[in-house]
Amino acid sequence: MVRDHRFLIDCGEGTQRQILKSGIGFKRLNRILITHGHLDHILGLAGMLSTFMRWEAIDEMEIWGSRHALNRVHDLLYGVVLMGRRPPMPIHLIDLEPGVLLEDDYFTLSAFRVTHRGADAFGFAFEEKARRPFLNDRAEALGVPFGPERRLLVAGQPITLADGTVVHPDQVLGPAVRGARLVHVGDCGRTDDIQDFVADADCLVIEATYLDVEADMARQFGHLTAAQAARLARDAGVRQLILTHVSRRYRERDIREEARAVFPDTEVARDFDRFTVLKHQPVRKVPTPGRALPQPEEVEEAEETPES
Ligand SMILES: [Zn+2]
Ligand SMILES: [Zn+2]
Repeated sequence: MVRDHRFLIDCGEGTQRQILKSGIGFKRLNRILITHGHLDHILGLAGMLSTFMRWEAIDEMEIWGSRHALNRVHDLLYGVVLMGRRPPMPIHLIDLEPGVLLEDDYFTLSAFRVTHRGADAFGFAFEEKARRPFLNDRAEALGVPFGPERRLLVAGQPITLADGTVVHPDQVLGPAVRGARLVHVGDCGRTDDIQDFVADADCLVIEATYLDVEADMARQFGHLTAAQAARLARDAGVRQLILTHVSRRYRERDIREEARAVFPDTEVARDFDRFTVLKHQPVRKVPTPGRALPQPEEVEEAEETPES
């Protein structure tokens, strides 16, 4: 969530059920970003849509993905779920291209290409815009009153004081400070071509399907090992690494330990985990309200099934 915006990245099987259980609700959850079109990343859209057909929680739905992913999503939603009926709300399927997808006064969302087993795959970067801090001491010394004058200066406009002195924004604004940056990469077959996009992220969320003992298998299926993901985080100057998409064959602890040996600030995400990413602050895991949470039910990727 960024201010008023909410995004769902990928929608594996059971996503709508887990959203219901988590209590975070569907309100304004109308933007879905798809990293790539493999089934374990899109099947949940069918459940989401059939839920929305029973009770309308949102006015419209935007699904962003590569052409390949959107073709599959289209078949799934219109062919399997709707079977010729009208969708309960407008569904916009939006072709992803690398570059800026959305931008407002506070943040930018951009997409970049990721290499993954033949699929047209994308990663996403959420970045708060850089801000020049207002220097109260300077404003004080120049006699800038509190109120609209300060707002104008922050907005980059000069003001004229009661005695006729003109104060320029540069006199009261410090050097730009960059905002928080969160990068999300889904399935990923190599790290050298995404290092620039990941650089300096306050938080990197990325897959770690395998352990290094099965590095050959990881390579074959276009996935990462925990150690590879950790090396990327270390080399790209990331502050916090969060691993996802762990194969069911491993214990979460082994994935975490392998990554932490290379990059200590690593967590393995479980269902219902919540993290906050704020500028100049360590990434924090937000305690989940005191309910008995079920164990994560992971969705296994059909690794051995050749995908079209
Ligand atoms: Zn995949
Ligand atoms: Zn996957």
